[in-house]
Amino acid sequence: MEIIIGRDQTTRKLRVVKDGKAQLYGMPNSVPMDVSRNHVSFQQLASGKWIVKNINSQNVTYVNGIAVESKTVSQNDKIELGASHYLVQWEALREPKIETVDIRPLRQVWDEYNEGNINIRIRQKNNGLLASLPIGFTMLGGIVASMVADEYKPYAYIFTVVAFLVMVYGLFRRFTDDSINEQETVKKEFQRKYICPKCGHFLGYQDYDILVQSDACPYCKTKFKK
Ligand SMILES: [Zn+2]
Repeated sequence: MEIIIGRDQTTRKLRVVKDGKAQLYGMPNSVPMDVSRNHVSFQQLASGKWIVKNINSQNVTYVNGIAVESKTVSQNDKIELGASHYLVQWEALREPKIETVDIRPLRQVWDEYNEGNINIRIRQKNNGLLASLPIGFTMLGGIVASMVADEYKPYAYIFTVVAFLVMVYGLFRRFTDDSINEQETVKKEFQRKYICPKCGHFLGYQDYDILVQSDACPYCKTKFKK
C-alpha cells in the first residue's frame, strides 16, 4: 500500500491519499506552505515498517531531524515535512477505524419486553373471564331448579352461592390487579435498555428483527454488529 501525503491547497489541511482516495486531516491552515501538494510517499513493507520517499527533489523531508530522500522508518521515527518541520502524525496513515457496536444483546431485551406485555394481557383476559363466570353459575342454578323435583330445589341455591363467591373473588382480583402500573414498568425498563450501546439513544418500539435490518444507529451512525 502506498500513501501520498501533502498539503491540501484549499483548506491547507494534511492531505492523505490512500488507494487513490484523498482524506483530509487536522485543522484548516495547519499545514505550512512549504509542504507541497504531493510531498512524500509512504510504502508499507511486509515487516510493518515503511519506506518514506520524497516525491520531488525540491521537497524537504526530515526523519528524526535529518533531511532524507528515502529511508526505511517505523512508527517510532519522527517524520517532518518542509523547512518549517511540519510533524506528520502517524495516525493519519492508519486505516480509519470503523467502529461497530454489538446490538445482539438487544434481542433479549425485545423478547423480555414482549413476554412481559403478553403475560400482562393474559392476566387481564383471565380476569375478564372470571367476571363472566358468576352469570354462568346463576343461569345454571335456574336451569337446575326448573328441572329437579321440589325437594331438591333448595340445592340449586348452591349455584347462586358459588356465583356470589366467584364474583367477590373476581372483584378482589380486579381491585388488586396492578397491570396498569406493571405495564408502565415494563415500558420504562424497555426504554432504558433498548438503546444504542454507543450513544444511548432509545431505538424505538421496533421488533429486533426489524432493527437488525438497519446497518447503523440512526443517531450516532455507529455501525451495528449483528
Ligand atoms: Zn447511537
